Amino acid sequence: MFISECLSVNDKNHLTIGGVDTIELAEKYGTPLYVMDEGQIRKNCRMFRHSIDSYYGGKGLVTYASKAFSCKEMCRIVAEEGLGLDVVSAGEIYTAVQAGFPADRMFFHGNNKTPQEIAYALETGVGRIVVDNLTELELLEKMACAAEKTVKILFRIKPGVDAHTHSFVRTGQIDSKFGLALETGEAMEAVKQAAKLKNVELVGLHCHIGSQIFDIEPFEHAAEVMLNFIAQIKEETGLTIQELDLGGGFGIKYVPENDPVPYDGYMERVSEVVKKSCQKLGIEQPFIIIEPGRSIAGPAGITLYKVGSIKNIPNVRTYVAIDGGMTDNPRYALYQSEYELVVAGRAGDARTQSITLAGKCCESGDLIGKDMSTQEIQEGDIVAVLATGAYNYSMASNYNRIPRPAVVMVKDGASRIIIKRESLEDLIRNDI
Ligand SMILES: *Cc1c(COP(=O)(O)O)cnc(C)c1O
Repeated sequence: MFISECLSVNDKNHLTIGGVDTIELAEKYGTPLYVMDEGQIRKNCRMFRHSIDSYYGGKGLVTYASKAFSCKEMCRIVAEEGLGLDVVSAGEIYTAVQAGFPADRMFFHGNNKTPQEIAYALETGVGRIVVDNLTELELLEKMACAAEKTVKILFRIKPGVDAHTHSFVRTGQIDSKFGLALETGEAMEAVKQAAKLKNVELVGLHCHIGSQIFDIEPFEHAAEVMLNFIAQIKEETGLTIQELDLGGGFGIKYVPENDPVPYDGYMERVSEVVKKSCQKLGIEQPFIIIEPGRSIAGPAGITLYKVGSIKNIPNVRTYVAIDGGMTDNPRYALYQSEYELVVAGRAGDARTQSITLAGKCCESGDLIGKDMSTQEIQEGDIVAVLATGAYNYSMASNYNRIPRPAVVMVKDGASRIIIKRESLEDLIRNDI
């Protein structure tokens, strides 16, 4: 009945996640509170791995894009599930290292990795560096040479595919800060440069066309473009590209109207395109990498808030104010993103109201959602915002000096803290 499988209603008419009563969670740990279901995370990981096994003979790797939700416990779970890990900063590498994540299964992305970050990646033995531009290629060669190491790299390519999604999360088109362009010859130039270098070994190509994408077609198109380029590289330089990283970006259900394609369907269709293109072009089938972030963490999480004041402005709207907001979930402020709202204590009731959920920050744009349909709602109620497992905690801030909420993991009816709630002392930790 809800958008995520891990959610249900118990005999008290309370919302449950992973079999745990959300009203009890709010009482025990306080609000605002992020709650994640471990079972759902593991299930999502397995589903992606299974799709590569079923449709591509297991010749691939699923790397979890840790920017969606990065913390030590998440890294441990993902490592246990046999996935790789996308990291985009020294901080994400450090988190994973501290969790014992094998460095050789890490892929280091980013359009402007600093020399310090590159040094750290070399030192920890990160498995692949996804090189974004020629400046970075030169820097990496110099630093790898000085460290007497050889690093395996992929090039980030702009395949020129326009995914139909919000412009802030669209990344595959020419006008993008990410990657090397195909049309201008920039990408081929980079390949030829890399071939001359001693301390970098070009093993693959990468593309990532955007996020929250619902159609399979742009992914098929991107795969085709990338394989054509692999064939062109072979022809012009004799070099065999062994790895093809097709990125992430699979859309999830935030509201019932969202209709993401089943992920299995994605791999089935993309594998078909890869196999056919390889046959047509006379090239070997590459090892495939896919990088889901949102689709692994997003549906597994919810955020619990307590309702403070309710302001009914006749003929305008009803503002329901909560004890969190853009500091724990900036996605409405960034993208006008939509969410589903449930009154945790009346979860099974019909939705009879439309309200605007407002945060407590000093910004009019500090909303979680406009015109959200909900059950009857009163001051003091606990409400749940669904599918907040990705890009919520990881995007949280201390604006207005608001401490970040705790993250609780539930599993088989039990709950545990995986990230502590920030204290007031934490807020001044670095103040002099
Ligand atoms: C953000 C990102 C992803 C994950 O995107 P989702 O939409 O969360 O699946 C994968 N790869 C790269 C390079 C990214 O930047």
